[in-house]
Amino acid sequence: MLLLCYLREELGSCSFHSPLYKVLAPLGLRPSCCNLNTSQTCCCLLRNFMFLAQRSLCNLGSKVLRTVSASKILGLSTSTEMSSKFKNAKRIEGLDSNVWVEFTQLAADPTVVNLGQGLPDISPPEYVKEKLSKIAAVDSMNQYTRGFGHLSLVKALSCLYGKFYQKQINPTEEIVVTVGAYGSLFNAIQGFIEEGDEVIVMVPFYDCYGPMVSMAGGTPVFVPLRSKPVDGKRWCSSDWTLDPQELASKFNSKTKAIILNTPHNPLGKVFTREELQVIADLCIKHDTLCISDEVYEWIVYTGKKHFKIATFPGMWERTITIGSAGKTFSVTGWKLGWSIGPKHLIKHLQTVNQNSIFACATPLQEALAQALWVDIKRMDEPECYFNSLPKELEGKRDRMVRLLDSAGLRPIVPDGGYFIIADVSLLDADLSDMKDSSEPYDYKFVKWMTKNKKLSAIPVSAFCNAEVKSQFEKFVRFCFIKKDTTLDAAEEIIKAWSSQKS
Ligand code: PMP
Repeated sequence: MLLLCYLREELGSCSFHSPLYKVLAPLGLRPSCCNLNTSQTCCCLLRNFMFLAQRSLCNLGSKVLRTVSASKILGLSTSTEMSSKFKNAKRIEGLDSNVWVEFTQLAADPTVVNLGQGLPDISPPEYVKEKLSKIAAVDSMNQYTRGFGHLSLVKALSCLYGKFYQKQINPTEEIVVTVGAYGSLFNAIQGFIEEGDEVIVMVPFYDCYGPMVSMAGGTPVFVPLRSKPVDGKRWCSSDWTLDPQELASKFNSKTKAIILNTPHNPLGKVFTREELQVIADLCIKHDTLCISDEVYEWIVYTGKKHFKIATFPGMWERTITIGSAGKTFSVTGWKLGWSIGPKHLIKHLQTVNQNSIFACATPLQEALAQALWVDIKRMDEPECYFNSLPKELEGKRDRMVRLLDSAGLRPIVPDGGYFIIADVSLLDADLSDMKDSSEPYDYKFVKWMTKNKKLSAIPVSAFCNAEVKSQFEKFVRFCFIKKDTTLDAAEEIIKAWSSQKS
């Protein structure tokens, strides 16, 4: 009815021979006034209304109505037939599947214990939540703010990171605030990568790196992290390294950038100073940019240290360092991130930002700035969230290691971040009833486990290029930034499962 009223409003009336009448009559819907010709104007308007008409028909739900094709009656082309106009741009060709979309949906069932997506279910710090709740009461905080980053936030970030870089960071020219670290990756890649450029990506990799490079017209060039043999000893993320010669062989005159991720998702590897020096030397030798994704910078466990490659000699001028409020304060839903680097790099990220999302949410930025100040003032104290969070998470990591060990799943102990990957092939799950047999083992395993054991995880082959997927398909990734009760529930499932096996 709404659609009819709308059409009547727009067209005034239509004749019995008009296209509109032909659409409506078979449905038993008769427009009242009938004196409008099938003029060009009418056809034009009708083309625009065809979507609405078709949607409405579907919504009516009746079988008969669903079989009526308005486009056939009118002889006008509609959505599917106007294929050349509605076809996707080449740059997104083949990029439609996404592990988060697929597996987050599966884990949405409330009876599933979700150790999949990196989504904390622990409470963010009270002061962080309080800051945000108070800010909404200030009128000006509900309006647009500076596009490249709310001033109080870029100032707080400049003060925080100035301590680590041991240099003054210009808050307006050397920082840009983005929609999550995703936004920073997007801005950096769109700002620099073009047709013909190669970008070195380490495997496994955070899954969006490859598609983002392809979308910009570049080619990801993959280099594997490989594990040394551990001969029955504890398997650690530090056992996974790059072969310096193999890495060097990937650099050539087309290499525009390398993407580094430390602490690493999904392995939990924290790159050592020596490892970073190898990367820095190659970047300098081949005059290459470094996009350093450091979203887990604060989450590093006992005995390990996070180094910023941008602080290495000769690296500041070629490095974009990326951070995330979501990881810093366990508020992934805030979707605020930032890039830090020299003005000659950051200005191009600012250009992409101003021509895409323009500005991030003001209240979130102000709350983040105020929360950062709380912790900037107590950086050396145990209460500082940057110190207390890794401490809390280390206990959860150790618990996960014990649990996975006891079930015989050979975990790779992470030195940083809040994920742990484990070889699940020992659980010997019977996946014969999984429909899509062409999927990698880990995809089928996680789907099977979510459905049958009510426990979710993320398949590790999602973090790999096609050529090496098979080497990682026995691994799944569990997220452990979870309440003890959530981990209790996971423990119960895994223990019951492994006792059934033995
Ligand atoms: N990089 C890495 C390595 C990540 O793990 C994530 C989030 N899981 C991101 C970037 C994106 O972070 P954000 O939620 O801030 O966009």
